[in-house]
Amino acid sequence: MKIFDSIVDIRSFIKAAKVEGLSIGFVPTMGALHEGHLALVRESKGNTDITVVSIFVNPTQFGPNEDYEKYQRNLEQDSQLCDVEGVDVVFAPAVTEMYPAKDSVVVKESALSKNLCGRTRPGHFSGVLTVVAKLFNIIDPDMAFFGQKDAQQVRIIEQMIRDLNFDIELKVVPTVREYDGLALSSRNSYLTAEQRVWAPRIYEGMQKVLSLYKAGEKDVSILRQALEAVLTGNDVEVDYIEFVDWKSFESVDTVNDGTLLAVAVRVGDTRLIDNIMFPSLSFS
Ligand code: AMP
Repeated sequence: MKIFDSIVDIRSFIKAAKVEGLSIGFVPTMGALHEGHLALVRESKGNTDITVVSIFVNPTQFGPNEDYEKYQRNLEQDSQLCDVEGVDVVFAPAVTEMYPAKDSVVVKESALSKNLCGRTRPGHFSGVLTVVAKLFNIIDPDMAFFGQKDAQQVRIIEQMIRDLNFDIELKVVPTVREYDGLALSSRNSYLTAEQRVWAPRIYEGMQKVLSLYKAGEKDVSILRQALEAVLTGNDVEVDYIEFVDWKSFESVDTVNDGTLLAVAVRVGDTRLIDNIMFPSLSFS
């Protein structure tokens, strides 16, 4: 496995691979890798010749009071995990490599990013889109792999690929969960033992909503109440519970096929997000 931190070097590696006719799969991450990330890697390996994983904690997608400083960084451990999975290339640039001077061009999305995480994390999606666009231009992949766990992110990136004419096929990988339903996340490690016991309630609550829906209840206000009743606890604050159309990300009053239920909850200082589709189908 090769590890690059320089844009020039990874570009020449990719160019040489393309001359040989090899296809490139790309898995962007912020490191602190877990089985969710590895599911994306396996999907890339199954679909392309060369799998590139980027490991970059992108400062521009964190707000001033967010966890940029405390975000786990362990390149050695992450590289080992990648090596064991058969990743071909890890790209782990320094912040100065990605943002060498004061940049003045960014990518902004103006419709899908207005609500949910876009409302509570202003600037977040512009930071994500800008770094993903830069990484797409550096790595020039044929396919890029993203997790359903970050549903709004995936939808906005799908739109960016379309609107800015990136010649990249987007593949969405279902959310990988712990045995008790908690979606795997690098941020789960921040949870205290007590908070970790509470955290599966997010998935349990969404499953309860899903079973009410399957039993015929489609009224969002009733389904929302059922979820709110589950998402209570010590030091727990619901950031949002949103029922939106998967394509437009506009709120709906009545649940239909193609409605997405997305939830963000603060458990102590840790913000957890999760989502399900009605009925529980994958996006792609
Ligand atoms: P992150 O390192 O958190 O920025 O995530 C990198 C990629 O991994 C994103 O496409 C995420 O959606 C995806 N991802 C994170 N957690 C999971 C999970 N539990 N299951 C599937 N994909 C995930």
